[in-house]
Amino acid sequence: EVITVGDLANRMAERGADVIKTLMRMGVMATITQTIDADTAELVVQELGHRPIRVSEADVEIGVGGGQDRAEDMVPRAPVVTVMGHVDHGKTSLLDALRKTDVASREAGGITQHIGAYQVQLESGSRITFIDTPGHAAFTEMRARGANVTDVVILVVAADDGVMPQTAEAIKHAKAAKVPIIVAINKCDLPAAKPDRVRNELLQHDLVVEALGGDVLDVEVSAKTGLNLDRLEESIILQAEILELKANPGRTAEGVVVEAKLDKGRGPVATVLVKRGTLKVGDIVVAGSEWGRVRALVNDRGATVPQAEPATPVEVLGLNGVPLAGEDMVVVETEAKAREVTEYRQRKKREAEAAKQGRGSLEQMFKQIQAGEAKELPIVIKGDVQGSVEAIAGALEKLTAENTEVKVRVLMSGVGAITESDITLANASKGLVVGFNVRANPQARDMAKRDAVEIRYYSIIYDIIDDVKQMLTGMLAPSL
Ligand code: GDP
Repeated sequence: EVITVGDLANRMAERGADVIKTLMRMGVMATITQTIDADTAELVVQELGHRPIRVSEADVEIGVGGGQDRAEDMVPRAPVVTVMGHVDHGKTSLLDALRKTDVASREAGGITQHIGAYQVQLESGSRITFIDTPGHAAFTEMRARGANVTDVVILVVAADDGVMPQTAEAIKHAKAAKVPIIVAINKCDLPAAKPDRVRNELLQHDLVVEALGGDVLDVEVSAKTGLNLDRLEESIILQAEILELKANPGRTAEGVVVEAKLDKGRGPVATVLVKRGTLKVGDIVVAGSEWGRVRALVNDRGATVPQAEPATPVEVLGLNGVPLAGEDMVVVETEAKAREVTEYRQRKKREAEAAKQGRGSLEQMFKQIQAGEAKELPIVIKGDVQGSVEAIAGALEKLTAENTEVKVRVLMSGVGAITESDITLANASKGLVVGFNVRANPQARDMAKRDAVEIRYYSIIYDIIDDVKQMLTGMLAPSL
């Protein structure tokens, strides 16, 4: 018990009543003078849109400039887009082609730098930010670290090949992250292109495009000839308008690391996407468990810039170590504070590594469910034949219906061995992987061990149902 509700409200510059209301929503009844523990405080801080920085076990500090942004300070920002799809369907080609549509660099004749993300400016003046690492592995791994940077997913489907296994996987990943999808039906320059077939195949994955009465936008494109790239970009802008993407640029910056490396000449370099505020040269930043004073900012055209606004990708120079992709970046007031936070985080990291043996993300999920913070048990199902996989998914979903408090959420079900992609997906949602008459491949096994993701093998369907039932009933959330 470390902080009173009143003190916490003061530190966040929030009204006490709002903090109490938030606590109530979490199932905690407290008055303004009552004390709550650090874990609860951290949740409240997040819930109210602030960024908690825990400087010690016993204290929760609010990041510099923390606080909710006022509506009048919010200005529209560029959408952040990730491209996903089956191998060879043209993700890389499409990213390259879209990059060339940037009017700003056309004028400047700049040399493109691959820094992990880039931004294009359209004729209309609108901007779109693209994450330069295609595929759902990067997407899901970032999400596993708590970074939800992607606003829109472009699903690339080759019109001559149709929906393939990785297309289906990408759909599951995007849906699990609740990110809207725009379909780019690629390679429409080919005579063998059958875009209508693609639309129909997508139906089977609950992706209903407008032409078939749904609300998913789709565009027939060619990364090769440049066909309809402008329409694809317009669709992204349209989707962005629906999402009402806004950020307050007039505050100290917070962002996410999308890529980081150790550069021979320049030292640690992290590509950061600013989420809110404006990042400036000279700022003291904490990125993951590294910190530094920003020595220079370099944009996606290789030019040094004095500052970076929301949704603008920049390379940050001056960190004393290499953070991980997906880790957060926040500006702090003093070097002392930066040191304090990173030392704390590095210690936490070491402790987490040590604790990982045996207890993993699933256990965290159990704890959350027990604490009434989570109401779902996410599961990835892999099996040897489609029929049994469907039977298992169906039966588990029935458990959901019988049990209104904690539900099973089938993240993905499919045929084949358990792969790394299944582990990443389960890990991102703190879930469990079930294998029915299939095993995990060695890479997936290693990854599961590293990330402490639980894999359970079965050969009898009833055993799965029984086990999951027990999990659900053994950890029923207390009713409020
Ligand atoms: P990725 O694996 O999804 O990144 O796919 P790539 O971008 O590497 O493309 C795979 C192959 O498809 C390459 O040989 C590309 O040249 C080709 N390709 C990509 N887009 C198109 C397109 O619009 N039309 C045609 N005809 N070929 C394309």
